[in-house]
Amino acid sequence: MPNIYEKLGVRTTINAHGPTTRLSGAIMPVSVAEAMAEATQYCVDVENLQARASEIIAEITGAEAGYVTSGAAAGLLLGTAACVTGLDPSKMDRLPDTEGMRNEVIIVRSQRNSYDHAMRAAGIRLIEVGISDRSAWTGVRDVEAWEIEDAVTERTAAIYYLAKPHSRPSLQEVVRVARDAGVPVLVDAAAQLPPVANLRRFIDDGADLVVFSGGKSIGGPQASGILCGRRDLIAPAALQHLDLDVLFELWEPPRALIDKGALPNAPRHGIGRHCKVGKEQIVGLLTALSLFVEEDMETKLQKWRNAMETLIRAVAEVPWVRAETIPDPRQTGIPMVELRLDESGAGLTAIELVRRLRAGTPCIEVNPSRVHDGFLIFGPVCLKDDEPEVIGRRLGEILGAEDTRKTGVER
Ligand SMILES: *Cc1c(COP(=O)(O)O)cnc(C)c1O
Repeated sequence: MPNIYEKLGVRTTINAHGPTTRLSGAIMPVSVAEAMAEATQYCVDVENLQARASEIIAEITGAEAGYVTSGAAAGLLLGTAACVTGLDPSKMDRLPDTEGMRNEVIIVRSQRNSYDHAMRAAGIRLIEVGISDRSAWTGVRDVEAWEIEDAVTERTAAIYYLAKPHSRPSLQEVVRVARDAGVPVLVDAAAQLPPVANLRRFIDDGADLVVFSGGKSIGGPQASGILCGRRDLIAPAALQHLDLDVLFELWEPPRALIDKGALPNAPRHGIGRHCKVGKEQIVGLLTALSLFVEEDMETKLQKWRNAMETLIRAVAEVPWVRAETIPDPRQTGIPMVELRLDESGAGLTAIELVRRLRAGTPCIEVNPSRVHDGFLIFGPVCLKDDEPEVIGRRLGEILGAEDTRKTGVER
């Protein structure tokens, strides 16, 4: 029987890169997919479902409240909007016009990244601070806390923090500055799982809001994410996301999520309405999250280590390559394989090798972040049991050919 993609005429790929959005995220546990299918067979009030999600997320993360978004990026948009408007419906209705509001978000220069569209879409201006000699390799200092402190003004809506092992200053230092100034800290921890302990860590460190991707290591729907943090910020995030085509006198939002009594009136559809979340995404995310915190991470890591060792064995006889396991630079504990290609010996660049793996049958995608240094990186998270050996065989076919130059693709 052809699978759904074969029926559509779209080829699938062996994903040795990892749960990236471009390659459609992770492979979902069957129990999560089944929960989603069941969820589609009923109708619920989405506000009530989000209120229950809030309780579950709060319990798991240690935050006051939580919310299911359509991804970590959507969480950044909603979190930013919440910091700008607070519970003021007229401000919500005006976004992304933020004139006269607190409309600046401070970002450490060395943490700037392409997901900033999500925050800017709320109508804020990013204020980059500090100089990082450390990332430029011209010195030892990264951006420092006093530089953030200096940048805070009465226009500051929030401070953005990218949670990565190399991020400086530390989150605790940033939180100290933010608390003194009375400004919330919004933490982007989209890909910082595992370890499972990170679900609580940034809240414990004092973050006001934290976002995680649901479709990366959590194993939930690709278009899902978590926003968690202060109750008084989750409420305006929810208000700017939920469908608010309501009559005020008939509107009965669950109090745990939205305190109707604190509102003069209901805002209309907000800035987040276009990144809506379906009931099946909410149920899928909650099911995957429970599984993620309950399952034995050591067993999963061991399975991934075995997959990477199988890959190393599978390429042992392949000419022109040397492979070794390396730790994930994000310090998730996920093992990876770094494969160094002898480009002149093979008569093939690492870029060409990536192209040939992709163009072959089956199609294989790798992490190309170090191709310019002659390396291919492989990750285990989205690999099926037999795939490390398939990858080894394909590398053998490509590099074992008598003259790789003859079979080469055009640059
Ligand atoms: C993946 C990622 C995002 C976006 O997450 P989605 O869940 O795909 O929206 C944002 N920030 C960082 C640092 C990421 O790695």
